[in-house]
Amino acid sequence: MSGFIKILGGGKEVGRSAIEVGNEESCVILDYGVNFDSKDNPNFPLQELPKKVKGFVATHSHLDHIGALPIYQISTDIQVYGTKITKDIGELILKDFLKLSGSKIPYEWVEVRKTLDHFRTINYNEELEIENFKLTLSNAGHIPGSGIAKVVVGDKVVAYTGDINTIETKLSPPADLGSLSDVNVLVMEATYGKFNHPPRPQVENEFYEAVREVVENGGTVLVPSFSLARSQEILSILMEKGFDYPVSYDGMVKEILEIMIKNKEFINRADLLAKVYDSYRYVKGWEDRHKVWKESGVIVASAGMLKGGPALYYLKKLYDNPKNAVFLVSYQGENTPGRKLIEEGRMESNAPYLKARLELFDFSSHAGKDQLLEIAKSAKSLEKLVIVHSSPDNAEFFASLAKEKLGVEVIVAENGMEIKL
Ligand SMILES: [Zn+2]
Ligand SMILES: [Zn+2]
Repeated sequence: MSGFIKILGGGKEVGRSAIEVGNEESCVILDYGVNFDSKDNPNFPLQELPKKVKGFVATHSHLDHIGALPIYQISTDIQVYGTKITKDIGELILKDFLKLSGSKIPYEWVEVRKTLDHFRTINYNEELEIENFKLTLSNAGHIPGSGIAKVVVGDKVVAYTGDINTIETKLSPPADLGSLSDVNVLVMEATYGKFNHPPRPQVENEFYEAVREVVENGGTVLVPSFSLARSQEILSILMEKGFDYPVSYDGMVKEILEIMIKNKEFINRADLLAKVYDSYRYVKGWEDRHKVWKESGVIVASAGMLKGGPALYYLKKLYDNPKNAVFLVSYQGENTPGRKLIEEGRMESNAPYLKARLELFDFSSHAGKDQLLEIAKSAKSLEKLVIVHSSPDNAEFFASLAKEKLGVEVIVAENGMEIKL
C-alpha cells in the first residue's frame, strides 16, 4: 500500500498546522491547530474521516498546533500523543482559547476535557506503535517539550519539524538534528524562510544593556510578552545577567512558569527559572498593579503584541514619560497594535504619540533561513522536502533556495494537497 502525506492545514500560511501521514486505510495526524483571520475569527483545518484516524500527535502546546484537537473528541475517542509538558501547558492554552473565543469554536469544555483524558504522554526518543506506524518524538528546540515527529510508513521515514529552532536558549536546548539522519521525506516549517536572525548572545546583550540604561536613569521598562515561553525566557536572561533592580511579571506567565518548574527535565536552564520564581515578583491583582509601575524596574506582562492583557494597562501608565521604555520581544503580526506602534509611533490615529523609548528585539524561537537549510541537510537520505507554516512569499523564496542548495524535490504545500511518499 503506498503511503502519502495530506496537508490539512498550514499550507502557505503560518499556523493551523495539520499534517496527515498514512495510506488509504489509516493515518495519523500531526498537529491539529488553528489560526485567525483579520477579524480574529478562528480558522480550522480540513478534516479526515474519523475511522481512518488512528491517532493525533501534538508537537507542542502553541494554539496554532493544538487548537483544533478537541473537534475530533466530539464523537470519537481518538488518542493524542505528545510530551507531558505539552499536555500540561496545552490544558491552559485550550482553556484560555475557550474563554476568549468560545462562541466561535465548534467544541466546548467537555471536549477539551476528553482531549486531555485521551492524551498519552511520551518521552523524547521513545518508540511507539500506532497501528502499523512507528512514531518517535525528538527535541525540536522551539519551546519546552516541543518535538520533531518521525513516522515510519511502509519503507519510508517521514519527519515533521513542528516549529523548530537550532540555537540554545535559556528554556530549550537546540533541536536534535541527529534524529533526522534517516529521514526520506521532511515536512518543515519555514516561518523565517527569507530571513536570518541576529546571533542570540548579541540580542541578549543589547536587550540587557538597554534595560539597564533605562532603569539606572530612574525609568520603568515594560516588556509586553507572550505568557508561554517568551516571558520565562526574558525573565531567565535578566536572572542570568544578575540584574539587581525590581522585576515583576503579570498574567498567565506565572501558571506556565509553575508548570515549567514542575517539568524541569524539559527546561535547559531550570536553575534560572527556579531563581526567577523565588526572587521576582508576581503581580497578584489590581492593588499590586496600581503600584508596580510607579517604581523603577522591569515589568514583563502579556500580551506580546499589545492586543490586550495587563501590558495595555502598563503601557497607558508609562506612555508619556520619555524616561520609560517599551521593549517588544516578539514578532509583531500585521494589523496588531504592536505593529502600529512600531510603524506609526502610536496605536490609533489621533492618539498622542508614544513618548517612552520604543525598541524591538528579535528573540525568535524559530530557525532562520540558514538554519532551515542546515536542518534539511541533516536528513542524509532526503528525497522530498515539503514546506509548511510559512507565508506564500517566504515559502516560495525558501523553496527555490533549497532546490538550488540541496538538489532534492522541494514542494510548497497547499491545503488539500496530497503528496506521494
Ligand atoms: Zn506554529
Ligand atoms: Zn510554536
